Amino acid sequence: MTDSRIAHFYRKSIAERIDELADRELIEPADARALLDKTQLLQPEVADKMIENVIGVFGLPLATAPNFLVNGRDYIVPMVVEEASVVAGVSSAAKTARSSGGFRVTSTDPILIGQIQLVDIENPDPAVQALFTASDELIELANSLQPNLLARGGGTRELEFFKYKMPSGKWSVVMHVLVDTRDAMGANLVNTICEGMAPRVEEISNGRAVLKILSNLADRSLVTARVIMPLSELAQEGYTAEDVRDAIVLVNEFANTDPYRAATHNKGIMNGVDAVAIATGNDWRAGEAAAHAYAARSGAYRALTNWTVGNKGDLLGELVMPIKVGVVGGSLKSNPAALLGLKIAGTKTATELAELMGAVGLAQNFAALRALVTDGIQKGHMSLHARSIASSAGTPEDLFDQVVDGMIESGDVKRWKAHELIDELQGDSASTESDASPDNAARGTAAGKVILLGEHAVVYDRHALALPLEAAISATIVETSADIKISVPDWDFEQSFKIDRPAQGAAAALALIMRALGVHDRSFYVRVRSRIPPAMGLGASAALAVAIIRAFNELLNLNMDDAAVDRMAFECEKLAHGKPSGIDNNIATYSEPVLYSKSSATRTKPIALTEAPPIVVASSGIRGITKDQVAGVRSRYEKNTQVYETIFNEIDEISLAGAHALKTRDYDTLGALMNVCHGYLNALQVSTPELEQMIQIARSHGASGAKLTGAGGGGSIVALCPDKESEVARALHEAGYQIVRMRDR
Ligand code: NAD
Repeated sequence: MTDSRIAHFYRKSIAERIDELADRELIEPADARALLDKTQLLQPEVADKMIENVIGVFGLPLATAPNFLVNGRDYIVPMVVEEASVVAGVSSAAKTARSSGGFRVTSTDPILIGQIQLVDIENPDPAVQALFTASDELIELANSLQPNLLARGGGTRELEFFKYKMPSGKWSVVMHVLVDTRDAMGANLVNTICEGMAPRVEEISNGRAVLKILSNLADRSLVTARVIMPLSELAQEGYTAEDVRDAIVLVNEFANTDPYRAATHNKGIMNGVDAVAIATGNDWRAGEAAAHAYAARSGAYRALTNWTVGNKGDLLGELVMPIKVGVVGGSLKSNPAALLGLKIAGTKTATELAELMGAVGLAQNFAALRALVTDGIQKGHMSLHARSIASSAGTPEDLFDQVVDGMIESGDVKRWKAHELIDELQGDSASTESDASPDNAARGTAAGKVILLGEHAVVYDRHALALPLEAAISATIVETSADIKISVPDWDFEQSFKIDRPAQGAAAALALIMRALGVHDRSFYVRVRSRIPPAMGLGASAALAVAIIRAFNELLNLNMDDAAVDRMAFECEKLAHGKPSGIDNNIATYSEPVLYSKSSATRTKPIALTEAPPIVVASSGIRGITKDQVAGVRSRYEKNTQVYETIFNEIDEISLAGAHALKTRDYDTLGALMNVCHGYLNALQVSTPELEQMIQIARSHGASGAKLTGAGGGGSIVALCPDKESEVARALHEAGYQIVRMRDR
């Protein structure tokens, strides 16, 4: 390969990236096909022979980092890592390094140390002397144990001797066997040598050999990577090149002083080193042990890199660390993915691979420090995270960058936001349903709810006042011949199931509805879009049930009226929440503001409003389980019935007064009633610290009333904010809470 740079590599599709590698002959056409067909992975039957108790194989992303120039040779580096920004970081650092000739890396011979620990020795000095005198004989013995290694130019090079007085007061004599393991990592090779030598070593020393095993402190296998990051390449928006350079030197000094910082600094280096180790089938735990033990060699844990200013003002980086890897042996022969990684790396010897890994470690360290001293790590992470969310939301290619930017700008890097942006950009709210909306599909929608006053009391037959969250959920249904399937991508929920198998959550509701409609012997695919989060006190489960029932109503021409839909949704609610009041399915079905009471339908009154009240709804992100909250209140009610009855009567009064204030747009009174109602909900012990914080934020930014809404224990708040809706929404959003729109648009 003559050039490892690939224009806009990160923007290409997986298939295009594979093509780029094949074009450069890094991989063969059969490898490219295997990658596309996903057949390059380790098979479970093979895995079963590698370790014990296998039940499958585990997936991680395999990526490639272009731009590397190491010792004058171009490399595209294979990396297996699940953390965003690592691959982007090293690729970008490698690009910066190219203009000064890339990375210069040197290394020692690939020596691994074996240890033989000898005990039962009264006087260690004669034992050491005897072993030292017999060194030639012992080295010859060691080499006779691995003749192939010797033939390949490796073998045992040297012996070293140590004596330690143990805390028990007894002596241990330790012999180090320094073995050049050539292209193997060498753990097994060295263990074999140590075990084979032990009987003769015992004879010579008059001691007893206990441990005979390699040391993972592979400090005779050191890699030194150096790079010049030209000053001219360091400037960034808002930062001069000198600022960036000097800040990197400064934070590196910090890591060389403080072990807390050094641990994070070195973890970043290992992000790069480990990713290559895993991609090439190497033992990354051995690498981790070596790196951190070496970082602490002075007795204090320190950074593995050093950054200084060169005499031309450039930034000079140096990394020194042990890297003991192999390009043969270990699990390589069994794992086709590791062999492929090695092929992509194009490293013919273990030394070459170790040197490439040293360059990657130094590149990763530069990328992390540059990000930390400029925009911070989070911004880069955020952009990659947004790309991954946009992709999982099925964003069309032509809208991709706009959706990514839109999510970052809004601060909501979430699937629902991606869907919303796609809809907006396409100017057609139904368009993203197209894949699940063939001609024979039917659709139903339903409202979520926000309770203004009266939750919990409504379970005890008092009034509650609630508003709809219009068109919060829509369901699309098609009949299929496969298993029954329900997917709610906005909740990251998808389940395929058979009707006779117990199903969870949304799937349980679907099974109940299918049984109730007598279509449990047929199969359907139900795709649900939701703009409200689940388990946040906003009536998502009832809305889901109503939307699905309505879609079936249309699909099967059932002519169900709203009352029938409402009744069936109530059965689903019982399944989800135990003993619900029925208010959620009522609002989900009728999508009207309502003063609700469960005891008699005649007491449930829709409320006609002349304007949309200035409401802000925000969810805490913490799931509130309605069933548990209702049960908790019930058990406290049973212990203190009289007190609780009084509270519920008060709440009833508040709801009735609130309905009047809502109709007459008396928002001062309504706000005050909401605040008092929240006090009672607090007394019922259903609030949480997060909800209290949100309520505090809303009130301090001008809300006339704010309270939890729904069952509590997590979930959401509602705030009444005449003339202050945007201030309150912004403050809650900035504090990290999700704002839920009252209307669909
Ligand atoms: P290995 O046992 O597979 O030995 C390497 C083999 O490769 C030998 O048979 C050798 O003859 C052969 N070989 C072919 N060409 C070679 C060449 N050019 N240079 C050198 N050898 C060549 O593997 P290993 O490297 O001895 O041990 C690595 C494995 O040991 C890893 O899987 C590791 O996880 C495991 N391990 C690690 C530890 C530890 O780190 N503490 C302990 C035990 C085992």
